[in-house]
Amino acid sequence: MTMRIAKISPFSGLEEAVQEDVLLARYTWYGIGGPAKYFVRPRNLEELQLASQRCAENQIPIHVLGLGANLLVSDAGVNAAVFRLDQDFFRHVKFDKNILEVGAGVDMQKLVLIACRNGLSGLECLAGIPGTVGGGIRMNAGGKFGDIGAVVTRVGVMDVSGLLFDRTKDDLIFDYRSTNISAKFITHAQFELDEDDPERIMRKVKEIWMYKRNSQPLNTKNAGCVFKNPRGLSAGALIDQAGLKGMKVGHAEVSEKHANFIIAHSGASADDVLKLVKIIRERVFEKDGIHLESEVQVWGE
Ligand SMILES: Cc1cc2nc3c(=O)[nH]c(=O)nc-3n(C[C@H](O)[C@H](O)[C@H](O)COP(=O)(O)OP(=O)(O)OC[C@H]3O[C@@H](n4cnc5c(N)ncnc54)[C@H](O)[C@@H]3O)c2cc1C
Repeated sequence: MTMRIAKISPFSGLEEAVQEDVLLARYTWYGIGGPAKYFVRPRNLEELQLASQRCAENQIPIHVLGLGANLLVSDAGVNAAVFRLDQDFFRHVKFDKNILEVGAGVDMQKLVLIACRNGLSGLECLAGIPGTVGGGIRMNAGGKFGDIGAVVTRVGVMDVSGLLFDRTKDDLIFDYRSTNISAKFITHAQFELDEDDPERIMRKVKEIWMYKRNSQPLNTKNAGCVFKNPRGLSAGALIDQAGLKGMKVGHAEVSEKHANFIIAHSGASADDVLKLVKIIRERVFEKDGIHLESEVQVWGE
């Protein structure tokens, strides 16, 4: 007689927070991406800690997803647990005069508007940059108008063992599209902003938004700049000078409007985008001897 042994889920007891084989395409700005083996949406810190500990015990790799605005997920997906901090607990916004305390799952565009309405200045530089506070801090989102790191005073983080701790301004380093935060999860953050006239803040937000609208292919599926700017240079200009604007692989295309953007037209696969990325790198290297480093995060094989 053969005995059947029922497979025990690594997430038993967490059924309400964990789904299996969830397509990631609908959670990325590219609208591309295969399934995540596990998709975890914790409803509080305890569930986050427990789910992360289960991953560690079962050697399940972890990815943390924001709004997927800086992300390319492979067509095969990821054999991992993808955590998304989008439940109410991770979307709180609290004010204490000019100090703003927010969950990592808060939408940065909503935060820009909330701060503006409350007469708090410092987050305008994020206008037109899609993403969550967690993703924004991890990437030190920003550009020519400033970076999120400039106004961050504290970041709540959690490592994979479930240990929660705070990183404070004096030991945080924000660099070009990077930080020195190594803990896997950013759970919340605190910003110190300046009191100002809401109308003046809104004018600045609109000005930055117009600049983006005029220089970026906003009504397309993309993930922002694909490559980081090499020191003192513009990756977009290098790609343009290599004659690559408008180049296509499958349904992926180098934007005519901004050469550092790759547009995923309907039917594009991650493979199309990755092939285009490879060609851009090779051509720029052949022409200028410069290796372009990825800004977009790539998950999966
Ligand atoms: C149209 C468009 C314009 C853009 N313009 C700009 C721009 O001007 N400047 C700029 O800097 N970026 C720009 N981007 C890129 C993107 O908006 C930013 O990188 C943003 O910060 C991504 O946030 P996200 O929540 O979508 O992160 P995701 O793309 O989901 O993830 C990005 C990285 O952050 C990590 N991460 C996400 N959440 C957490 C968390 N809670 N804890 C730990 N790690 C986390 C992920 O693991 C991943 O490594 C643009 C993108 C688009 C689509």
